[in-house]
Amino acid sequence: MNKKRVGIFGGTFDPVHTGHIEAVHSFLSSHLIDEVWVVLTPDPPHKSESPDRASFQHRLEMLKLAFDGMARVKISTIEKELSRPSYTLQTLQVLSTKYPGHRFFLCIGEDSVSSFHDWHRYKDILNDYSLIAVKRPGSDAEKAQPDVLEKTIFVEHKPVDVSSTGVREGKSGIMEKVPDEIASYIKEHELYAQKRSA
Ligand code: ATP
Repeated sequence: MNKKRVGIFGGTFDPVHTGHIEAVHSFLSSHLIDEVWVVLTPDPPHKSESPDRASFQHRLEMLKLAFDGMARVKISTIEKELSRPSYTLQTLQVLSTKYPGHRFFLCIGEDSVSSFHDWHRYKDILNDYSLIAVKRPGSDAEKAQPDVLEKTIFVEHKPVDVSSTGVREGKSGIMEKVPDEIASYIKEHELYAQKRSA
């Protein structure tokens, strides 16, 4: 039996933006995988606490606005139920046990390829899973460790210069890279207002 190939695309998505959405399109267009599961991280191990962060629930609502109804894409909240910190290895292992008929891949942006050797037990991830990556402006995969690059396939992608940090900080012109319904959600719920009005 051919296993269903699923790409896990994890992140804080605080908020989700066009860079994430275009990445998902490129992961799917590569035909290396059948589906993308967008996994919302409640508490990323490598990011510091900050008062201008949106709650898990708000971030989930914005992900739904971005991805609900998109063919071959699912949103997963599995990390909410797992122990913290939310290590990717744990998530991949739990999913692999829960879905023996699926083969999982890890989908990431170029910045994450470059810093992958800092991830918790990254060699164990590489032992069992391949990485599917997209280029990202301002990142340089040449800085990545050779063992990481060996397990990484870069798929065709038109890079999008945007970050969630830029959106939270209200960087000039950045809302053009946030879909309208998400921009409206941010406004309506006064998210990131502290930094954006500074
Ligand atoms: P922040 O600015 O808060 O660090 P971010 O914009 O990097 O956030 P994350 O939610 O941390 O977004 O990223 C989730 C995943 O999406 C990571 O694998 C990251 O590399 C990838 N990613 C984020 N933005 C882009 C982008 N513009 N192009 C390609 N990949 C991206």
